[in-house]
Amino acid sequence: MFDKILIANRGEIALRILRAAKELGIATVAVHSTADADAMHVRLADESVCIGPPPARDSYLNIPSIIAACEITGADAVHPGYGFLSENARFAEVLNHHGIGFIGPKAEHIRVMGDKIEAKRTAKRLGIPCVPGSEGGVTDTDEAKRIAADIGYPVLIKAASGGGGRGMKVARSEADLENALMTARTEAKAAFGDDAVYIEKYLEKPRHIEVQVLGDGRGNAIHLAERDCSLQRRHQKVWEEGPSPALNAEMREQIGGTVARAMQELGYLGAGTIEFLYEDGQFYFIEMNTRIQVEHPVTEMITGIDLVNEQIRVAAGAPLSVRQEDVRVEGHAIECRINAEHPTTFRPSPGTITYFHPPGGLGVRVDSAAFQGYRIPPHYDSLMGKLIVHGRTRNECLMRLRRALDEFVVAGVDTTLPLFRTLVRNADIQNGLYDIHWLEEFLKTGGLEIA
Ligand code: ADP
Repeated sequence: MFDKILIANRGEIALRILRAAKELGIATVAVHSTADADAMHVRLADESVCIGPPPARDSYLNIPSIIAACEITGADAVHPGYGFLSENARFAEVLNHHGIGFIGPKAEHIRVMGDKIEAKRTAKRLGIPCVPGSEGGVTDTDEAKRIAADIGYPVLIKAASGGGGRGMKVARSEADLENALMTARTEAKAAFGDDAVYIEKYLEKPRHIEVQVLGDGRGNAIHLAERDCSLQRRHQKVWEEGPSPALNAEMREQIGGTVARAMQELGYLGAGTIEFLYEDGQFYFIEMNTRIQVEHPVTEMITGIDLVNEQIRVAAGAPLSVRQEDVRVEGHAIECRINAEHPTTFRPSPGTITYFHPPGGLGVRVDSAAFQGYRIPPHYDSLMGKLIVHGRTRNECLMRLRRALDEFVVAGVDTTLPLFRTLVRNADIQNGLYDIHWLEEFLKTGGLEIA
């Protein structure tokens, strides 16, 4: 096992990793930018190193500074969290080159899954169901027309190096196609420096359902059921829950089994998520995330398995602590991503938290690095904390979530808490009747009336 882990991240996920390391008896090193000198992850770690000025490219993304911090402190492994360097294959290789462990997948798997065309090809080879579409990149308009006619309109043009929902264009007919192709390529070039695009069938009303996996890198891999992350704004997840209100146990076993077998064949190492769109009883692979995700606590609450603990164990060469037959889904969990943003305009609201009272009680978990007197810096994402609630049934979970949201008090900055208080009382949400467009429609039609 590792002796000392350096956490190359900040905020709630840095705390989350600290907790897992401490429970394993592993010493911790926090790194931070000058803007985060007083942050909670710095206070709770055994040691800390300042790695640069506030902009992430000069600190949390600065590979030489992080390697230097490992060498100064004698850390023997790095946990990258999510975002920042978590899906940077070169970072994993550089660490290995320096004899430092990377708590994440093999570099080759990060690389394959980071290229969306390659990822889809690999998924298909491993027997994972994919959205019908082009076999690879498409440059030629006539070829695009042939493919689109073949799969049927509407189609979606996506950037091969895309991310964060950018570089996607819908074409509803052949007349739209040429224009959409050109716009998508121009946008992709500008955003990602790569104009390679591919074509997929556009699904009109899908849900976003993703399967959590864990692998030991030696051919043993298991699935830990699914999360439903259909409630999104600008392709960013807002509310995640598990199990999905749209699946039954048989469908869960079927898709989970398919994914676990694929990961066994791949020899996948660590935690990962296979994301699908789900429509009319069919799953369609969209991408794989080769890291721990923001919404991982949903899975932890329904399975009782500590995902970060498993990540650390397998990165150190130990086997998984659980077998597939030990994984049981119990009850229901919902996570709300609470941002320091205005609840209707979503304008970021950095500043000092003057009062902070998180909810508590049975089945309530708050993953946050915030505290009273904490100044939220303007340089990073606006996630202030995650409220995760568990109940024996979905109804109990909703009731508990409602009272936990009402108990949560944050003053001094705007937060999206009022949005969640409205959502938890909405009939469609209560009935589990929503797809990936539901939240945008709800916001557009003025569903959120906040005084
Ligand atoms: P990114 O890496 O940019 O997040 P994804 O491939 O994960 O790109 O897609 C992001 C979102 O775009 C999905 O969650 C879904 O809302 C939408 N999307 C992607 N592919 C399709 C598709 N074929 N049909 C309909 N919507 C899609």
